[in-house]
Amino acid sequence: MTEDWFGGAIKRPGPAWKAGYTVFGRTSQKTGVVDHSAEGPLEATLGVLDSWRTASWHFTNDGLALYQHYPITDVCWHAGFEANKKCVGVENTGRKDEPLTESQYLHLLALHRWLKSVGVLTVCERRVDLWEHNEWMATDCPSGRIPWDRLIADLKEKDMTDGEVKQTIKELLGFGPDTPDKEVIRDMKKVRFQGLIVTEAVGLALVGKDWKRVREIMDFFNLGR
Ligand SMILES: [Zn+2]
Repeated sequence: MTEDWFGGAIKRPGPAWKAGYTVFGRTSQKTGVVDHSAEGPLEATLGVLDSWRTASWHFTNDGLALYQHYPITDVCWHAGFEANKKCVGVENTGRKDEPLTESQYLHLLALHRWLKSVGVLTVCERRVDLWEHNEWMATDCPSGRIPWDRLIADLKEKDMTDGEVKQTIKELLGFGPDTPDKEVIRDMKKVRFQGLIVTEAVGLALVGKDWKRVREIMDFFNLGR
């Protein structure tokens, strides 16, 4: 049975009329993902979603917050008819040539792991179930922002047990804000999907700013020392 809403995303519905096709129906089973570049910040991106433009997508990944606008069974309008029938659409805020931030990447990874767990992703290979917009149609939506090699490697790693995840988070909490980001990032790669809350904590740990909030999140999940 497929879950339609990702528990790690903030539910932020888009206009109800922006899904499906008269000739096809509203829903379909998805077998892939199209990762887009939103070419703008969050506010502008959600503005397009709420507008009369015939464009819609399932998720907006803005880094520390990930939003879901439609159930993944809905057919959204993000990459043309053929792609829309088969693929979940994800808009990543930011513009051409801007790499994803580390927390944005971790949210993307958490989302893709969930899509794998519900059977949307199966092989995790480019142009089989992982796509860019331009691979379906001519578009200005640019390539080059999704770190595919890293994402695919992370998606194919063996899942850690809950105990291992807890231990890794605990070790991370022992790191001070002076820890070089590279070191934290390397350790974070060991953390397997445990819902978005954990990746939010990770994002905060990476920017090394709000340790109090990190502890609160960890306490909530009983991951504290
Ligand atoms: Zn696009």
